Amino acid sequence: MRKSVPVLSTLLLAAAAAALELAEAAASSTKEMADAQLIDDLVAANRILHDQGVVDGFGHVSARHDTNPAHFLLARSMAPGLVTADDIMEFDLDGDALDPRGRTLYVERFIHSEIYKAYPEINAIVHSHSPSIIPFGATNVPLRPIYHMSSFLGAGVPIFEIREAGGPATDMLIRNSELGAALALKLATSAVVLMRGHGNVVVGDSLKQVVFRAIYTEINARLEAALLRLGQGEVNFLNAEEAAKASATNNAVLGRAWELWRQRALGGG
Ligand SMILES: [Zn+2]
Repeated sequence: MRKSVPVLSTLLLAAAAAALELAEAAASSTKEMADAQLIDDLVAANRILHDQGVVDGFGHVSARHDTNPAHFLLARSMAPGLVTADDIMEFDLDGDALDPRGRTLYVERFIHSEIYKAYPEINAIVHSHSPSIIPFGATNVPLRPIYHMSSFLGAGVPIFEIREAGGPATDMLIRNSELGAALALKLATSAVVLMRGHGNVVVGDSLKQVVFRAIYTEINARLEAALLRLGQGEVNFLNAEEAAKASATNNAVLGRAWELWRQRALGGG
């Protein structure tokens, strides 16, 4: 027993040092070089989402920093279809830019900062006003998976009502951390949260997954609206087991669609 004491203290000291290191990393306001591949993928994600009609002049996509989980990457305020690597900026989880250099920031960057803060497993976020999804945020008709490509919707699609968090007279935008935190809370275990009268947020564990989900959420909404008319309200959706199994299958082949979309949006290799 006696011998184990120094070993135990050494272990405890090592654990304390590791925890301190993590806390320091989290509190760090130092800009760290993100992986060039991650920046390249984030530029591609911006262009793909524009090419596929998910974003227009508005909307944004972010990725959690690859070496500092307390930071994330997001473009300066601009149309996603025009984003280049030079436009990518680094932010902390308060939504503050590390090196603003006078650039204009997205007003709604708090969507990203608060979701990354609340959910360590989320590594990529898309916010858009993807048009076919809007009606599902403003009615009582739930957005549900109509086919296997949108099976991730099987986890449920909550609606964020900004009046509950911001009162009856907001401009509908997530302008601060408080509104961002309320939106993040609504997301819970879902892949998508609708924002009534505004748009939606899609999350994923990678840029490839979140882009896939954002595109197929828009397609599902379009199909579901058509099917509700065709079936006069009677539609046969995927059940929970089908949705879970189809999601696992899709997650294994995300790269296939990504390569096609990337090539279309950016050309070249
Ligand atoms: Zn918006």
